[in-house]
Amino acid sequence: MAKVKCAWFDFTSCEGCQIELTNFGEPFVELLEHVEPVEFREAMSEKTEEQIDVAFIEGSFSREADRRRLEQIRARASIVVAYGACAVSGGVNAMKNHTSDYAEEVYGEDAKRPHLASQKALPIAEAIKVDFIIPGCPIDKAEFVRVVEQLVHGTTKVYVPSYPVCVECKRRETLCRYDDNDHCLGPIARAGCDAPCPADGIPCEACRGMIDNPNEAAMEKVLVENGKLPERWAKDKTRMFTANHRGDA
Ligand code: SF4
Ligand code: SF4
Ligand code: SF4
Repeated sequence: MAKVKCAWFDFTSCEGCQIELTNFGEPFVELLEHVEPVEFREAMSEKTEEQIDVAFIEGSFSREADRRRLEQIRARASIVVAYGACAVSGGVNAMKNHTSDYAEEVYGEDAKRPHLASQKALPIAEAIKVDFIIPGCPIDKAEFVRVVEQLVHGTTKVYVPSYPVCVECKRRETLCRYDDNDHCLGPIARAGCDAPCPADGIPCEACRGMIDNPNEAAMEKVLVENGKLPERWAKDKTRMFTANHRGDA
């Protein structure tokens, strides 16, 4: 069986999802028996203009100038996978969509330099058709490998859980952050990562996005009353990775 030609592309991101894969070791190396990487900036210098079977796109769509490149990738890829929160939802980049002075805060007097100009940080699905998503910031490496295995076998549907992280957390018998005088977004966060953060003693920040129909207002109330967060922080927490589906300022 011919190997599946895959290329990895990055847009506005920290490229941490690519780095996760380069750090994965053996399971990723085993994938290479079935997959031929033809472009992968963090791991190889070769580039390609050829047709590819699967394009993995990391990073958000935050400059109109990137639309053409995204369209070109779409035109020569049979399958497009948005991977990582930046590509799937806009990720942490989208927090800037709720503020007007982010550029000055980050870049100071360099803020007006032309190469720093950007629009709202959006999911890449705002520019091109996306076939599959792999959420997370960074992605869960094991989930990535599972998805690639499914694609290699010609799947037409990739399963992403719709239940909350609390389910996986309870399954692991992890001490709840709220029982340790902490806060946590687990009740409205989309599972699929096996709840590593509470298991490590830190709150879930919903990096995989929200469950379907999350009650963010109730979550914010819990964050304030039980998690002891100031009201403003509670709101910022619930949109840290999901700023684009929250219309409120
Ligand atoms: S999803 Fe997170 S780790 Fe991945 S590129 Fe974006 S910011 Fe980096
Ligand atoms: S620690 Fe977080 S994810 Fe785990 S049960 Fe408590 S609220 Fe849910
Ligand atoms: S526990 Fe929450 S923050 Fe941690 S990886 Fe899972 S979804 Fe992301």
